[in-house]
Amino acid sequence: MKTLVLSPDEAGLARAAEIIRRGGLVAFPTETVYGLGADALSAQAVTRVFEVKGRPRFDPTIVHVAAPEEVRTLWKSIPPLAEMLMQRFWPGPLTLVLPKNRSVPDIVTAGLPTVAVRMPAHPVALKLIQAAGRPLAAPSANRFGRSSPTHHEHVLSDLDNQVEAVLAAGPTTVGIESTVLSLAEPTPRLLRPGGTALEALRELLPALRVDAPTGPSSSPGTLPRHYLPRTPLFLLESGPPEASGEYLERRRCGMLAFKEPWQAFGRVERLSPAGDLREAAAQFFAALRRLDAADLSAIVAEQVPEEGLGLAIADRLRRACSGRARLVGERVWIIR
Ligand code: AMP
Ligand code: MG
Repeated sequence: MKTLVLSPDEAGLARAAEIIRRGGLVAFPTETVYGLGADALSAQAVTRVFEVKGRPRFDPTIVHVAAPEEVRTLWKSIPPLAEMLMQRFWPGPLTLVLPKNRSVPDIVTAGLPTVAVRMPAHPVALKLIQAAGRPLAAPSANRFGRSSPTHHEHVLSDLDNQVEAVLAAGPTTVGIESTVLSLAEPTPRLLRPGGTALEALRELLPALRVDAPTGPSSSPGTLPRHYLPRTPLFLLESGPPEASGEYLERRRCGMLAFKEPWQAFGRVERLSPAGDLREAAAQFFAALRRLDAADLSAIVAEQVPEEGLGLAIADRLRRACSGRARLVGERVWIIR
């Protein structure tokens, strides 16, 4: 199959919507990352999303709507808390989980009795959903377990000739996936940190739980190992070398730096020279991809402050890393 690269104009959007209505797959931009979209009400179309991504069936996908009213067809009922959150944070990078209607196929929710829904803040995403005339189930448009695509070129490098079309709209602005919040239990619970800062949610939800979920509200796709670059990534910590480990030459390593410049590495990517966590989130996946493509032995990543969008970046770094590292003189000590 030849993947159509469509521009996000009227003709491109009409073509993309037509593909969705016929049960095909279209990768499209949102403000977080590019999604691989299919008709959320067609089990067959969504099954192909799982196949193309190599995504395990236990990992539910988020359903995207173009207006808050559209949740009525997806959720059993809309509690006042959900109304309030939708009003405050939609369109935007906040996904809400609530009990689902029968019309939502089991493949979308991995058999869970709940469905995750959000309204993206991207004009192309909204126009596509409107033109298709149905909600879109869309996980990130990458091979399962790999870094999320924040540019249409990333989508093509992972999924070229496996999907019908990609709407090519350049880089995304938020750059990190949505925050996932469960409202399906008595107290709201954070299932995944993301593009909506926890601090902003806490203002409205003082009782918000952030401890790991168990039982029916669990978030099955939130795996400890994810976003893996091909080059092993190690989180930088301070301290002397530990008993077991190995040295690597700095110039054979890449450095994913937060704001300070680092010298003597084979390649350095700085997420935000100004120390702005929003900018860092927007740069994160693209910087990781560039380091991964640079033919290095290892990537060393600096920790970021766990506040604002830093919480989501730190979460992705933890799941992308293979271990810890320290700097010892001109070399990198990989802790084994
Ligand atoms: P993404 O890969 O960005 O599409 O994110 C989907 C993630 O949202 C999944 O991996 C789950 O962690 C979470 N999620 C989606 N649907 C549900 C649900 N019904 N209940 C709990 N978590 C969900
Ligand atoms: Mg993903």
